Amino acid sequence: MSHESLTPTTVDELTPPDSFGRSGGETLVDSYGRHVSYLRLSITDRCDLRCNYCMVEEMRFLPRAQVLTLEECLRLTSAFVDFGVTKVRVTGGEPLVRQNVIWLLERIAGLPGLQELVVTTNGSQLERFAPLLRRAGVRRLNISLDTLRADRFRKITRVGDLSRVLRGLDAAQAAGFERLKLNTVMMRGGNDDELIDLVQFAMDRAVDIAFIEEMPLGDIGQSRRSSYFGSDEALDRLRTRFVLLPSLETSGGPARYWRIPGSSTRVGFISPHSHNFCDTCNRVRITARGELYPCLGDAHVSHLLPLLRAHPTDDAPLRAAIVRAMAFKARRHDFRHQMDAPQVLRFMSMTGG
Ligand code: SAM
Ligand code: SF4
Repeated sequence: MSHESLTPTTVDELTPPDSFGRSGGETLVDSYGRHVSYLRLSITDRCDLRCNYCMVEEMRFLPRAQVLTLEECLRLTSAFVDFGVTKVRVTGGEPLVRQNVIWLLERIAGLPGLQELVVTTNGSQLERFAPLLRRAGVRRLNISLDTLRADRFRKITRVGDLSRVLRGLDAAQAAGFERLKLNTVMMRGGNDDELIDLVQFAMDRAVDIAFIEEMPLGDIGQSRRSSYFGSDEALDRLRTRFVLLPSLETSGGPARYWRIPGSSTRVGFISPHSHNFCDTCNRVRITARGELYPCLGDAHVSHLLPLLRAHPTDDAPLRAAIVRAMAFKARRHDFRHQMDAPQVLRFMSMTGG
């Protein structure tokens, strides 16, 4: 593992390469000609669970003053939507533990030009929030669910209660979202024996499911190599039970989808290790600290929070920093061979999943 891969490289002072300059001010285009149309915004690093692949048991969370205020979240998102971003995913940490999250979502949903507002949640607060989210204008939800067994759920999340998440899923189904998707991180010896059951569960509920390869984000105090479970092996396993037909649907990200004849359920694989789809990447991420990461697997970062606070009524410096950051979007990431030590020292809860 190279030292550089761990050290955040601040791009705010760097000069973009000569080849860069295609961002015309109206849309965001990186040095490889990829249009950025999708923003993933982490609105908190805090969470009510402590999933063992995401956090250490004793997490130190950010002091409040270092976290974007909701107004700052809105101002940032608005700048990206002005630049032609059409899809925003609000995530965390657990976004539903952020106070007044509905205030923010209502306003993001109302931004002219935004086509799709989606939320990723662990589901633990959904029983209460599902109807509020729907009314606020959230169209789709991703709900994380790694196991259907209560004892395992507790072990993986350290503190969680599976029945709460299942009640949350019920509430989300009753609230009438356009689509619901379960997110499952695959773990050898952790839940790989449940992959078929999870797909069957998704089919019974008529929701989608996406299986995620574990990524080396954040130092969780142990090697991830033994728990890593790849998409190809998962697909082989699912094929012992289901007929899976490849689907052309894509979100421009690392997910590939399969359909099961006779079912509305789509089965996705998010394969940042085994299949690299960086060529069509259309997304950037903002952490709860207001750091803009053009690539999840790369350490280049632009610090937007100081700019927001230094220029409370002038968006020009912010817009210039966003355009400049596009020059540093990595061509591709490579998580292979990085499972013993974290490639990137940020936890997923910081960057947003
Ligand atoms: N708390 C919410 C949740 O769990 O859905 C949103 C944030 S969480 C960081 C977003 C997604 O990232 C979840 O589906 C989670 O399982 C996944 N995730 C967290 N750490 C990961 C890792 N190291 N590798 C792969 N996926 C991870
Ligand atoms: Fe919390 Fe989501 Fe990370 Fe689990 S994966 S600890 S629910 S932020």
